[in-house]
Amino acid sequence: MPTSPQRVLLIEDDRLQVRVTEQLLANARMERFEVDWAPTFEDGLQKLLTGGYAACLLDFQLGERDGLELLREARAKGNDTPVIFLTADSSEKVDAAAMEAGASDYLVKGEITPRVLERSIRYSLKLGEAMRELRRLATRDALTGLLNRRAFDALLAEEVDRARRFGHPLALIILDLDHFKIVNDTYGHPSGDAVLATAARVLESEVRTIDRVARIGGEEFAVLLMETEAKDAFFVARRLVDVMRGKPMTIGKNTTITVTISAGVAALPRYGESEAAFLAEADKALYTAKNGGRDRAVLAS
Ligand code: GH3
Ligand code: MG
Ligand code: MG
Ligand code: MG
Repeated sequence: MPTSPQRVLLIEDDRLQVRVTEQLLANARMERFEVDWAPTFEDGLQKLLTGGYAACLLDFQLGERDGLELLREARAKGNDTPVIFLTADSSEKVDAAAMEAGASDYLVKGEITPRVLERSIRYSLKLGEAMRELRRLATRDALTGLLNRRAFDALLAEEVDRARRFGHPLALIILDLDHFKIVNDTYGHPSGDAVLATAARVLESEVRTIDRVARIGGEEFAVLLMETEAKDAFFVARRLVDVMRGKPMTIGKNTTITVTISAGVAALPRYGESEAAFLAEADKALYTAKNGGRDRAVLAS
């Protein structure tokens, strides 16, 4: 059965070696490979960071620079494409360093056969899949598929740091479903779960793709709005509240209910220095929204 070719990035500064590797890949028997070649460190890193490759074959010695450095930089930027080192000589030092940097394998150039290369790539692909699944399980909330609390905390710390360093605006909305206990008590816990999942979809579909949505508590959500000023974030929060109120949610066979949500908004640089203070400002605004009668958004003052 013909399968679609796997896109492989080959980062290699030696033209002759490029031809050798392409020939090896062309002779693979179980997979078809489509090779994209990057001749320099910069070009290679840029292509790898697009994330568009099933695997990457990386030359150890790249002119003045080395592949280890390239791999470390790619990993630091969140890239998780499986990388196989191609080295001119084998040594235990290289082996250990490659593994440490996050490579899934390393092969010695003169010793590579089509079968060895193909097998190494297939194992790397499998490993890459498993790693991605593990990461998904560790960072996603099982019920809604949103970022979980742990992932959100890490993201918040990172984005607050970035916003402060570059003087960029960053906004945070904390949302909490109103009287959610009543939903559970009236329709049962599974129906409550269904409402939470629907609420998550509503939030996700109402913000930009670069914004991040997390479930940070039982019926509490957070939306981190990149490059967004306080007044724009407040506008978004009000829209979220409005859309939630107007969204019929189906629970069970023929029951449809609506729920409301309250929101607290804070934005850097004005509200909060640390991420804890930022979060506290948004929380305080949420508290004000609850006390003011719920079903509304409040901007931190
Ligand atoms: P408020 O408007 O003040 O937020 O009222 P509330 O009832 O939403 O708040 P409260 O904190 O009293 O209750 C939260 C409820 O959310 C109680 C809890 O059982 C429910 N809850 C938390 N996590 C889940 C969950 O994963 N699934 C379901 N179905 N319910 C949950
Ligand atoms: Mg080289
Ligand atoms: Mg609530
Ligand atoms: Mg709550």
